[in-house]
Amino acid sequence: MAEDFYTILDVPRDASQDDIKKAYRKLAMKYHPDRNQGNKEAEDKFKQISSAYEVLSDEQKRRRYDQLGHSMYTQAGRGGGGGAGGMSPEDIFAQAFGGGGGDFFSSFFGGGGGRSQHNGPSKGDDLIYELQIDFEEAMFGADKEISFPRSDTCSRCNGSGCEKGSSRKTCPQCNGRGQVTMSQGFFSIRQTCSQCQGTGSIIEKPCSECHGQGVVQKTRRLPVHIPAGVDTGSRLRMSGEGEAGEQGGPAGDLYVRIFVRKHEVFNRDGEDLHCDVPIQFHVAALGGKVEVPTINGKTELTIPAGIQSGTELRMRGKGVPSLIRGRGRGDQYVRVIVEVPTNLNAAERQKLQEFAELCDKDQHVHPRWNAFMKKARRFFE
Ligand SMILES: [Zn+2]
Ligand SMILES: [Zn+2]
Repeated sequence: MAEDFYTILDVPRDASQDDIKKAYRKLAMKYHPDRNQGNKEAEDKFKQISSAYEVLSDEQKRRRYDQLGHSMYTQAGRGGGGGAGGMSPEDIFAQAFGGGGGDFFSSFFGGGGGRSQHNGPSKGDDLIYELQIDFEEAMFGADKEISFPRSDTCSRCNGSGCEKGSSRKTCPQCNGRGQVTMSQGFFSIRQTCSQCQGTGSIIEKPCSECHGQGVVQKTRRLPVHIPAGVDTGSRLRMSGEGEAGEQGGPAGDLYVRIFVRKHEVFNRDGEDLHCDVPIQFHVAALGGKVEVPTINGKTELTIPAGIQSGTELRMRGKGVPSLIRGRGRGDQYVRVIVEVPTNLNAAERQKLQEFAELCDKDQHVHPRWNAFMKKARRFFE
């Protein structure tokens, strides 16, 4: 049983238009894609609440919905019930927040995205691309290719948006000021003029290629060289690979933000690597050589006799290649975890018992234990 529109907006069936609007606004702010980037669940939820609001905010549609019921209504006349009758969730959102395009929203969240408001050429917006790479790729560097949607300057009109032989004229709605004052509930705010998008002028004859936008959306493929030593949070700047500039202005930049996936053996701390290596109890007591992993493969590590569990051994120059110095590497720290033997068979048990009896006669075998017992003697008397 699909959720009905009242449940989706969490309002009673007799809710007033005001309540419906309030409920929608609250949910729309929470699930708006700008706030939930890459979150598929939020995106679906945003579409759902937008569809619900589109119907319930329109008295005529709402009456029909109430008469037919949810499943009948969504089957009838709405073609699959996906995109709400001709309006995108973004359009519905803009309308519910007082029309006028995206600027109100950008100023609300202090985020970018809104185009600049002055006339003349201006630099395009910067883009951020989140790139996940493997731990090994961060260690050794890698060459990747990324692809992302980007606005490119329209080649037909060179970004002016005007069809050949025509030009721009002063916007009649704002008389060239680019802004209009609107009241927004309790307060009034200045908003970008919806007719000229704040430029103060409008295009008489839009370019047939870009429909007056001056830019066209294209998928950009770009090779990216990842230098060895990058870490989560590293940013690579690709100059001029951002959004196209307005009216012939320069393009913005692209920032590739690196996210390095966790490794199952190594933990990274700056240029150093840490890993835990279990060793056998007798190796800890007698000393010896053990094989340990490094990012360049296995290597032999000497364990001094009598090492205690938790001791860290440093292997110089086996860490992360230095991104800052461009040469040299950090160190690798191996934390030794002494494994106490388990599941002993009879013969093994026998030998350990003999060992235990010998220890009783030799105080030097367990100095820490002996020292502790001396200090804590009174607790045992
Ligand atoms: Zn205007
Ligand atoms: Zn064009």
